[in-house]
Order: sequence, then structure tokens, then C-alpha cells
Amino acid sequence: MSPEAPVTDAKLAPYRRKRDFTKTAEPSGRGKVARSNALRFVIQKHAASRLHFDLRLEYDGVFRSWAVPKGPSLDPHDRRLAVQVEDHPLDYGDFEGTIPEGEYGGGAVMLWDRGYWAPEDSGENIGRALEKGELKFVMEGERMHGGWVLVRLKGDERGRSNWMLIKHRDLAAVAGDRGGPSNNDRSVASGRTMAAIAAGKGRSAKPFVTATGAAAGAQWRGDRAEEAGSAKTSVKVGRPGPKPKVAPKPKAART
Ligand code: MN
Repeated sequence: MSPEAPVTDAKLAPYRRKRDFTKTAEPSGRGKVARSNALRFVIQKHAASRLHFDLRLEYDGVFRSWAVPKGPSLDPHDRRLAVQVEDHPLDYGDFEGTIPEGEYGGGAVMLWDRGYWAPEDSGENIGRALEKGELKFVMEGERMHGGWVLVRLKGDERGRSNWMLIKHRDLAAVAGDRGGPSNNDRSVASGRTMAAIAAGKGRSAKPFVTATGAAAGAQWRGDRAEEAGSAKTSVKVGRPGPKPKVAPKPKAART
């Protein structure tokens, strides 16, 4: 057991308290996670009592998590409410399936996007930025590209949990694209629709976070653009992508 385990356990206590792992197939956070030199992110589309999107940013051994009711918008004019929720374990990043009705968050969960993230300024202290309530960052996934900002709303009486997720103006921004997520969305990990996931049909998700192999050696670093001489990682958009290259493992991610 790694020396960080007790710290991670403390962070995951609220997550575990809300769930009965004899009833839900969600991971308890004790699974093996692949090493990665880059921080990972996952966005899950979650058909709970209210449909929403869960943005999860790897930091300090867990996924910091925000529920985004309308999902991310590619239009920098759109400020999307993002409600911070309990930290999730890293192995949650491979969870796709259905949480039973009556259990916490009951409903289907789709792996809607995943990839790597970094603070826009590579010198940024992430913990301090989160504490301060303003994190400028870049995401490179299948659907998300380029710069974003998470800003905590001031004067929030409900425990400082309300943030806004806003797209930066850059090459990946699409003015007027307010549509974003749709009913035609398919999982980036299994190609399945929400209906197929809910019905328990189709192939299981290819692992990303819990896999060993290619993803484990992911070398993407947001500050690489800086090393190459450009000042900001936010200019690194388009599809340079470290697409998660992972061989499907038959036994993994059966949900
Ligand atoms: Mn959720």
C-alpha cells in the first residue's frame, strides 16, 4: 500500500459514505490505477433523476468533480453552472454502466469524453488555484479541446460549491455552438448510446485510467508547448491528441 493511501482514503470518505458497493457496480476506489505523467480528465454523461454531465479532473490522487447540468458549451459566451461534488476515485474514470434505481445517483452513466488536462500556466499551483476559486486549464480529449476556466461564484451561501465552466476564446471555441451534447451522443469508450448502456447491451468500455499498457505510459504534458517555446498551453488545440491508446481487456470494465 502506498504512503498516500490514507490521505486518499480520507478524501474518498464522502464518496464511499454515499454508496453501497454491494448494490452499485461503481468502483470503491481500491482498484489499480495506471501511472500517468499527465493528469487525466473524464466527462461522464449521467442520466440520474436529472440529466447532467460530470467533469472530473485528476488532482492529488483523486478526481475533483463538478456536475454540469447543461454540459460544456463550446461558445465562450455561455457560462455553464458547474456544481462541485465529492471527490471521486480515479478508477471511477473507467465507469460506464447503470447505477440501480434507488441507489445514490441511480441511472445510466456514459463515458462521454476523456483525455488529459493541465493548468494553462504550467507554473500554476493547482491546489491554490482551486482554493482561490479560479482555474484556467486546457483539456485535450475526444470532444474537449483547448482552454477553459472554472470560476467559483462569490457569495454562494450553499457551501461554495457553485462554479461556472466557460470556454476560452481560442481555435477550439465555436461561437453560437450552444447545442453541444445531444441525444445522438455515443460513448468514447464503447461507442454505445445511452439507451444501449441503460439496457446493458453492447460492448463494454475500453479502460483508460485503470488500464496497464499504452495509457500507463502517457507522456502528454500540458507544459510541453512551453518547452517548445510557445508561452501558453492554450494555443495547443486541434487534435495533437494523446488519444488513449489502450488495448481492450476482456475482463476489465464489465459493468
Ligand atoms: Mn453525476
